[in-house]
Amino acid sequence: MSTNINNNGLPNIDDLQNLANELFKALPNEFPKEISLSPDKAEHPRATKIAETILHTGNLDQFGQIPAANPSNLPPAPPAFSGFGASPSALNHGNTGAFALYPNAGAGFDPQNKNSSSGVQENHDLNINDPHTGFHDVNLKNGNPAQLNEESVFSPLSLNNQYLPFQTENSSFEIELQAALSFVDTQFKKREDFPLGGNETTSSYYFLDQNPFAFDKRSTDIIVGNSFDYKEINLFKGHPFDAASVKKDFPILKETVNGKPLVWFDNAATTQKPQSVIDRIAYFYKHENSNIHRAAHELAARASDAYEAAREKVKAFLNASSANEIVFVRGATEGINLVASTWGDQNLNSGDEIIVSNLEHHANIVPWKRLADKKGLKLRVIPVDDDGQILLDEYAKLLNSKTRLVAFTQVSNALGTITPAKKIVEMAHAAGAKVLIDGAQSVSHMKVDVQQLNSDWLVFSGHKLFGPTGIGVLYGKEDLLNEMQPYQSGGNMIQDVTFEEIKYHKAPNRFEAGTGNIADAIGLGAAVDYVTKLGIEAIGQYEHNLLEYATRLLKEIPGVRLIGTAKDKASVLSFNLQGYSNDQVGQALNNEGVAVRTGHHCAQPILRRMGVETTVRPSLAFYNTTEDVDTFIKTIWELKKVRF
Ligand code: PLP
Repeated sequence: MSTNINNNGLPNIDDLQNLANELFKALPNEFPKEISLSPDKAEHPRATKIAETILHTGNLDQFGQIPAANPSNLPPAPPAFSGFGASPSALNHGNTGAFALYPNAGAGFDPQNKNSSSGVQENHDLNINDPHTGFHDVNLKNGNPAQLNEESVFSPLSLNNQYLPFQTENSSFEIELQAALSFVDTQFKKREDFPLGGNETTSSYYFLDQNPFAFDKRSTDIIVGNSFDYKEINLFKGHPFDAASVKKDFPILKETVNGKPLVWFDNAATTQKPQSVIDRIAYFYKHENSNIHRAAHELAARASDAYEAAREKVKAFLNASSANEIVFVRGATEGINLVASTWGDQNLNSGDEIIVSNLEHHANIVPWKRLADKKGLKLRVIPVDDDGQILLDEYAKLLNSKTRLVAFTQVSNALGTITPAKKIVEMAHAAGAKVLIDGAQSVSHMKVDVQQLNSDWLVFSGHKLFGPTGIGVLYGKEDLLNEMQPYQSGGNMIQDVTFEEIKYHKAPNRFEAGTGNIADAIGLGAAVDYVTKLGIEAIGQYEHNLLEYATRLLKEIPGVRLIGTAKDKASVLSFNLQGYSNDQVGQALNNEGVAVRTGHHCAQPILRRMGVETTVRPSLAFYNTTEDVDTFIKTIWELKKVRF
């Protein structure tokens, strides 16, 4: 084969590439793909190949294949995913735990098991009776995945004989829950001495069957007094989702603050990291650290493979159709800015319209407003009702032939409202508009399936998904991404550079200019593994119950105004306490070790819509327990006792 010469005098790059491939194929040390000498093959296929090459050059067996190498010559495997109260090192040393023996344990998603909603790898060496997990996975019954239908997984709490995903016939959790809630009902009878405050709405929660403001003086005294056994209403104990055990996977949650155990209720701002994520990042720097995609040496291969494995994990997590649809960015903010600066700048013209919702974080307002100002676009806003719910009929009125983009959040960070995302997308597409979903607050609480949602783009931040800061994801439909101009430019994103012409890579590399945040992308992959193993549906159901529990108790406290009372909510309880500034409430909670956010939560328009400038915002995650909620509620009651 010969190479053509370009008009700049250099050989044609494609011809060179073909030549190189011919050469590699002809080399004696090319290995069949199935040979793997390393337990970490899922993350390091190319590194394994290089290691094999180095170990076995000129040493073929009688079939012309490479004989198995001594695994002790290979680097240690990356930390297998463990979580659930057992550290990877505990699994790898001494204890011959199944995860340590199973070669793909560090890889997370197992294609052979993709039907298992739990993500647990059955039929390998996992002992179901001793799975080294604090989380009882009811998706596995007698070692087999339970047949979960959508109803049984997603149905709201009810007494209709359906079982929650973490529930078995023998542990009738719903009955316990009903008992817990009826106990609260009997403790908090109708309240007459505390009228509804100015802006409070009377709309009820779908899980509350009585006036949530109802209470009687006696129950208040009981709660605030020492005689009340607060644990009595804590019937979530013995819950098969063992949050207390899961909590042990998060070293920072063992911290004390002001001498009290830390209660982390600032999850909407950022989440804490499990040991498996911390270990994975440390492992990268100890064994894999290299720049990626650009060198033929072993560490470059390890780092590149681990980075691309993380992309595959995110792809599976979001159910994207290709890993090419997953672009690593700094976070949700950068993802939105990327779309505004590329697709937006390229395609939108004066008079075009962009729709956002009133619920948006500033990250999903400011880039669009700037673009609108720059290009003479019109920014239109979907209003919400007094509970903080999107008004779909008003949205319908905003859509027209000039609408080019609808950008909205799936969960409000300030109120916790879950928006009807699929419906919003459908309506936008029917009007011919593209859609960007801000998934920053949704991916850690619910299954987000980009194919099912059919959004054109979706963004989220790793640090809100139990992963590292400085890394996030822009999902985009592949064709669309490839039509978009690059965002930043430089190394890594080009196919070919001359002074006359530049050819860009296709997505995702086209949007990953320069050296990216390699270690943290890999850390995000480990976080995705962790969440996948717990099971996002089980997480969502547990958090839903915890939010009900906390909401019920918070609303019973006189002087509390809950802000954001949508029917569908996740994680967030925004409130004001009469007689106190939000900072005073935050400080009082901090004195008890409870970390909450106070302020405008980078969502000023929605707070102003609700008639306030700031709120106190506890936000829950799956490692929070009812004890955490009790500590929080008790502190608010104490404050109330002083000032009323
Ligand atoms: N969108 C929402 C709904 C958020 O809550 C946040 C952060 O709080 C963001 C976007 C921005 O995320 P980041 O700061 O990680 O880019």
